[in-house]
Amino acid sequence: MDFNLQADTPEIAAFRKEVSDWLDANMKEGEHIRLTGIWSTVHDDAEYLFRRRLAEKLGRKGWLFPTYAKEHGGGGLTTAHRNVLEVELDRRGLPLGNVFYTRAELVVPAVTMFGTDEQKREFLPPMMRGDVAVWQLLTEPHGGSDIATCRTRAIREGDDYVINGQKIMVGHHTKADWLMVLTNTAPEGKRHENLSWFYIPADLPGISYTHLNLMMGVKNAVYLDNVRVPAKYLVGGENNGWKVASAYLVLEQGGGGSLGESTLLRNVVARCEEVQPDGTRLIDDPDVRDQLADMMLDVDTERLWGMRNYWHYNEKTPHRYAGPQYFFFQRMVRLRNAERLQKMLGYDALVPEERYDELGDFEYNVRYGPGMMHGGGTLHTDRIIISRCLGLGRNVEGKRQAKG
Ligand SMILES: Cc1cc2nc3c(=O)[nH]c(=O)nc-3n(C[C@H](O)[C@H](O)[C@H](O)COP(=O)(O)OP(=O)(O)OC[C@H]3O[C@@H](n4cnc5c(N)ncnc54)[C@H](O)[C@@H]3O)c2cc1C
Repeated sequence: MDFNLQADTPEIAAFRKEVSDWLDANMKEGEHIRLTGIWSTVHDDAEYLFRRRLAEKLGRKGWLFPTYAKEHGGGGLTTAHRNVLEVELDRRGLPLGNVFYTRAELVVPAVTMFGTDEQKREFLPPMMRGDVAVWQLLTEPHGGSDIATCRTRAIREGDDYVINGQKIMVGHHTKADWLMVLTNTAPEGKRHENLSWFYIPADLPGISYTHLNLMMGVKNAVYLDNVRVPAKYLVGGENNGWKVASAYLVLEQGGGGSLGESTLLRNVVARCEEVQPDGTRLIDDPDVRDQLADMMLDVDTERLWGMRNYWHYNEKTPHRYAGPQYFFFQRMVRLRNAERLQKMLGYDALVPEERYDELGDFEYNVRYGPGMMHGGGTLHTDRIIISRCLGLGRNVEGKRQAKG
């Protein structure tokens, strides 16, 4: 894979122009809109509708899931085309995987890998066309680090399953159309072999939710109370849910990488170069310059690791611990940046600035750093996964000791 984005082939150069022109035209109506972060405490109907409409238009062109098969709503394009879409959307402040608030980028690979032909025909096109918002329901009140101890029960009754349980810290400030739910279908069964993965409509009777106002975003508690689910919504077969979830958790935990650039760094450098009311500039302060230099090193290392993982994932050359290693580093960089912003900007780092989208806003990032300590696991789960990948896990060690 060639990351020299200046060296497009003639075909890719033409595609870049097509995408760039199209985005310029179709994002015009949203120019005045302040884009919210991946998780946000701000609900703005105009912003939400703009992003959903944009996703639908991208989806109809096959540009939301560019490398997936056309018959399921994808673009049937190459990774080089996907690179263009990733980079051009990122430049305009949006991630390709989440143009609006949905986790479809995780669910599509799972259904593609484990769904029956009928399930692929029914479930994939609406997700790939951007018609539905999907939430991921894994975490439960007793703890999200160890999701294999799932207590939400799904009991088979004739052609249906009846689901009972509670999930927590899931979804977004906007509403869901579909839910992916990890359940326990064999409470007495062996660990990892007693779970099942469902993809269900969010409006089935018995489903309700309440917002949770967390520091860096609205999440939800979802209650599943005798929810009757036809068996056709079980993906991957009964008691095979751990395999289904594991297939895409690799992506959530950094394995898919990223081609994104940091708007935060750009904004903070520009802010430090501005002349302040007292005639001074922050950038002339040696302590501020030290903070900026450290931030640049971290952000650039993060960017290169993101590109490395993107390359491994798309070239299908698995790297054992690249995902959790990158994820761990990202969490630490965000935490360090939250502190650096306060050191450089003082109280100004605690006030949102309307001129920046949330992802590049100082106040949002002050909250985002600590907030992302728990999200798709924690620093501890990252460490545990890295250890396992290196063959240092409890099970491997236990077997080694048993052998003597
Ligand atoms: C912004 C955000 C978005 C999220 N989005 C989703 C979502 O869309 N869907 C979803 O299902 N969940 C989501 N979550 C939940 C998230 O996955 C969990 O917060 C995370 O997995 C940790 O679980 P927990 O918060 O219950 O902490 P716990 O599991 O209760 O852990 C508490 C503490 O104990 C530590 N710990 C736990 N086990 C061990 C161990 N074996 N060894 C050492 N230390 C350990 C943890 O690292 C942590 O510090 C989200 C969370 C956040 C903050």
